[in-house]
Amino acid sequence: MTESTHLYDLFHPAHYDIYLDINRETKQISGKTTITGDALATTIGIHQKFLKIQQVTVDGKAVTVTDDPAAEAIRIPVPQTGNVTLAIDYTAPLTDSMMGIYPSYYDVNGEQKQIIGTQFETTAARQAFPSIDEPEAKATFDLAIKFDEQPGEMVISNMPETKVEAGVHYFDTTVKMSTYLIAFAFGDLQSKMTTTKSGVQVGVFATKAHQANELDFALDIAKRSIEFYEDFYQTPYPLPHSWQLALPDFSAGAMENWGLVTYREAYLVLDPDNTSFETKQRVATVIAHELAHQWFGDLVTMKWWDDLWLNESFANMMEYVAIDAIEPDWHIWEVFQTTEAPMALQRDATDGVQSVHVQVEDPAEIDALFDSAIVYAKGARMLVMVRALIGDDALRTGLKAYFDAHKFGNATGADLWSALGTAANMDLKSVMNSWLEQPGYPVLTAAVVDGQLTVTQQQFFIGDGTDAKRQWQVPLSSNYAEVPELLTASQVTLGTYADLRQANGQPFRLNVGNNSHAIVKYDDTLLADILDHITELTAIDQLQLLQDQRLLAEGRQISYADVVALLPRFAASEATVVNDALYQVAGNLKKFVTPDSDAEKQLQQFFDRLSAAQVDRLGWTPKAGESNDDQLTRPYVLSAALYAKNAQSVAAAHELFTANRDNLAGLPAATRYYVLANEVTNFSDATVFDQLLTDYRQATDASYKADLCAALTTTPDAKLIAKLIAVFEDAATVKPQDLRAWYRGVLANAKGQQAAWDWIRQDWAWLEATVGGDMEFTTFITVTAAIFHTPERLAEFKEFFEPKIPTPGLGREIKMDTKVIASRVALVEDEKAAVNAAVAQVVQ
Ligand SMILES: [Zn+2]
Repeated sequence: MTESTHLYDLFHPAHYDIYLDINRETKQISGKTTITGDALATTIGIHQKFLKIQQVTVDGKAVTVTDDPAAEAIRIPVPQTGNVTLAIDYTAPLTDSMMGIYPSYYDVNGEQKQIIGTQFETTAARQAFPSIDEPEAKATFDLAIKFDEQPGEMVISNMPETKVEAGVHYFDTTVKMSTYLIAFAFGDLQSKMTTTKSGVQVGVFATKAHQANELDFALDIAKRSIEFYEDFYQTPYPLPHSWQLALPDFSAGAMENWGLVTYREAYLVLDPDNTSFETKQRVATVIAHELAHQWFGDLVTMKWWDDLWLNESFANMMEYVAIDAIEPDWHIWEVFQTTEAPMALQRDATDGVQSVHVQVEDPAEIDALFDSAIVYAKGARMLVMVRALIGDDALRTGLKAYFDAHKFGNATGADLWSALGTAANMDLKSVMNSWLEQPGYPVLTAAVVDGQLTVTQQQFFIGDGTDAKRQWQVPLSSNYAEVPELLTASQVTLGTYADLRQANGQPFRLNVGNNSHAIVKYDDTLLADILDHITELTAIDQLQLLQDQRLLAEGRQISYADVVALLPRFAASEATVVNDALYQVAGNLKKFVTPDSDAEKQLQQFFDRLSAAQVDRLGWTPKAGESNDDQLTRPYVLSAALYAKNAQSVAAAHELFTANRDNLAGLPAATRYYVLANEVTNFSDATVFDQLLTDYRQATDASYKADLCAALTTTPDAKLIAKLIAVFEDAATVKPQDLRAWYRGVLANAKGQQAAWDWIRQDWAWLEATVGGDMEFTTFITVTAAIFHTPERLAEFKEFFEPKIPTPGLGREIKMDTKVIASRVALVEDEKAAVNAAVAQVVQ
């Protein structure tokens, strides 16, 4: 960056009066925005995108403005620096982009209806009203909305409504806030309300396509999350209300608009009587994430998007801290270990990955920062390390000071480290900058060299990587007291191994609890010692061992065949986290076999060997009162049994399907997918297929819809696959927000891969026009790369995507994903024979 392009440097807005008239029928918006503020130059810039500007006045006098499309702005001359008032009249189209102001579509009793909602993060507020659309440009807002209102409809926003006059709804003046957090919605909504201990009104809103009791779970979690944060942060929730709204069309998972959080329906409303425990956990963490933002992100906001991690990494950690506090029996940190940890470790091992803190300017590049593996998962792991280093008391004291110092304002990473560091009396900045500013992470090699126990760090890569000699300050978390808290050099020698082993009486381990963002490679002596005592490890530590071994194998530091040999040792575990790690490794073995080959038959036997006893123990139907672990483990073993084509399981699932054919939605949600998938894969005919597709069109329960999508895409029938591809672009069947799941499902199906791959290449322009403007767009590339593992697909991937590298927001993803596929192709080529031999060894 050579010169600042930030419009805030030219004009500091203080207050906005925003009037909007929105017509769903004509798909037209007309608006007038009045902004008062402080001009710092005599030509200022105001952001706008897709607006048709009709008139601009400055202090009441009409002026001529110039367009600056590159900056998504208009340039306005002002008579003098200092206080000015701008008034801008404009019109804009109402489009189906899931960005800016947009409609969501749904059916109630066969009648098509729509509600209007908003999505402004990152840079779409400028599509709704002219503004300094930068996080630092905080101001107060008065919002007035008129729309083609029908009887019974309501409109909600960040603040309470104060009056309705001549059909115009007026809302209370907001506190000082950033433009990207403004939100409103209107339509025929239902709601449920409650109040927190401190008097904050909490509400959940959804369309009337849902049953009223589907709002209850979210209301309870939202209320208790806010109460938890008010206590943990020692800072009151700053607004009179906290609304949670489910929108039928929503691109991301949820959005933390201040006082009006918006969600995908799947992440807010659920059937309290038939939803899996896993789904409830996911919904609860999403709600807790968004509510963590009401302070971290909304009350105190990053100064610029380069510090997006301040918002997302923090909220991603706090969602687990909060749910662990309000639902301690859920052991929610186990979900962190099975989702966030492997996601971060996988992606962060690819050379070319971005650091958590990264310079950005272009709006498309800002959107590309919302990388779930880095700014969310890795960033959260970074903060988990901080929490472990300083403890909760210092964390809370530091946070309170941080909120007090920066509330209704902005902050940078340095501000956070300084507040937390002061509270902990520690130089946190130098520890954390090694994680924040550098991409990647280290592999810690623990070895006995000439009798001395040593630990060294070196950057870990999966695929080709240039060793830039990066070093990190790594919390070692050893079970040996002699080991320092932090590794700050490239190597440390800990003393004579034989003496240390004797004194400690247990195998040497590092990163106990798996909270440091690093993996451990033990030499043969140390690993054998751990494996000899494997049953003494906690479930998380067993998960960690399997996970680290898998990553080391993918990074070619050990053979994948060695990992295969370990798996049967863990197959009897009743811990979900162990089964998760086990079946993740096992699932990865599928890429080493060709579909329908003898090697695949052998692998299926291997899956049967791993899962059969557990399927017998757990059965196909959830039991009342069973443990959380049993509920969560069952899907892993049923999935394995179906891949193994275990005759008993195939028959049991078929029987369940047949018996419940008239009410498939009523099958227990935790196992429903497996029953449906078994039917589609092993017994499918066009009638069953059509019944399921019709159900998909009509269902309102998001988790049932997700099961249907996942099951339908497993069909082996070419004609039915063609039918699926044909609905990809039919928004009445597959909403654009759900398209990626459909595409991924068909692509992952060996019989459907060619058709899905042909579709995305042929219709890329359509895809770009439909979902290209939003921050989820690049994930179509990511999910493709996650599946491909042959040289042919690698060549095709490069041929198609490499020309798109210059497209803003796509370049890094394409380059990274090419490496991801290339390293997988090389791994399969080199290790196929050894892996399949290791599988054969277990099966025989
Ligand atoms: Zn977030």
